[in-house]
Amino acid sequence: MSEPLLKVERLHKRFPVAGKRGALLHAVDDVSLSIGVGESLGLVGESGCGKSTLVRLLARLLDPTEGRIVFEGEDLASTPALRFARTAARARIQMVFQDPTDSLNPRYTAHDTIAEPLALLMGQRASAADRRVHEVADQVGLPSELLSRYPHQLSGGQKARVGIARALAVQPRLLILDEPTAALDVSVQAVVLQLLDRLRRELSLSYLFVSHDLNVVRLLTDRVAVMYLGKLVETGPSEALFRAPRHPYTQALVSSIPGQGSRIRLSGEVTSPIDPSPQVCRFHGRCPEGEDRCMRQTPPVVLLPGERMVVCHLAT
Ligand code: SF4
Repeated sequence: MSEPLLKVERLHKRFPVAGKRGALLHAVDDVSLSIGVGESLGLVGESGCGKSTLVRLLARLLDPTEGRIVFEGEDLASTPALRFARTAARARIQMVFQDPTDSLNPRYTAHDTIAEPLALLMGQRASAADRRVHEVADQVGLPSELLSRYPHQLSGGQKARVGIARALAVQPRLLILDEPTAALDVSVQAVVLQLLDRLRRELSLSYLFVSHDLNVVRLLTDRVAVMYLGKLVETGPSEALFRAPRHPYTQALVSSIPGQGSRIRLSGEVTSPIDPSPQVCRFHGRCPEGEDRCMRQTPPVVLLPGERMVVCHLAT
């Protein structure tokens, strides 16, 4: 089997808690995952589960507390985020942000926005950058007459295309898409998602696709990773995981998709992510299937046929 493009090994991010001396918030806790060349991995979980922190670690905007981020065979975690921003490797991992309006500089035209990383990361001169801007605008379906416009003169869909073009301009291998269509009208969302799907196939890109919309994740990803309170609790091929989720939390998430039968409503308190006990399943306060042992023993990591992984006592 060929080496994955990205291999994350035992990644942790802990933040000090203001006003609580010595206390640590475990935002990302012992996360391991991989993304193959040309593969799309979905990352799902409710707000506050650590998805955003994990995305910022993988985009190398934040330094991990522990662990490795091996990209194309090189451990990027050992380079501090501030220094990484100035390395050639920065171009190989690019991010498309959630809200195109917030992420575009209002003083830059679409052309300047797309050209900026070409100058900063690849040292391209204006004429070469201009050629590349037109090439990539064409790839994302942005008419060249719109390149002289400022963000306020563009529609939401056009701004999304500018954001995607800026990320693609420097020829990345991995795109991190953080809720890329959440801020768009429903009618525009489908068009942008189709564009992203086509670009992945045409350019052999790998995606880490973060979304609250499970239907979109199901359609656009090859595999899914489910995160709960800083930990991955289930991973597997998208089709199999959505058809037959094994972890009780994934079962609740999937049941919220319209047309999936009766919805599992979760009740109970969410466990605090501040210094959580390693011997307790983090989902136990809300788990409909919880047992006594879930409060006394760390749930095992269970590898199942079909390249699936579940962290739960009931999966053994
Ligand atoms: Fe539920 Fe126990 Fe499994 Fe945790 S280990 S998800 S509490 S059954």
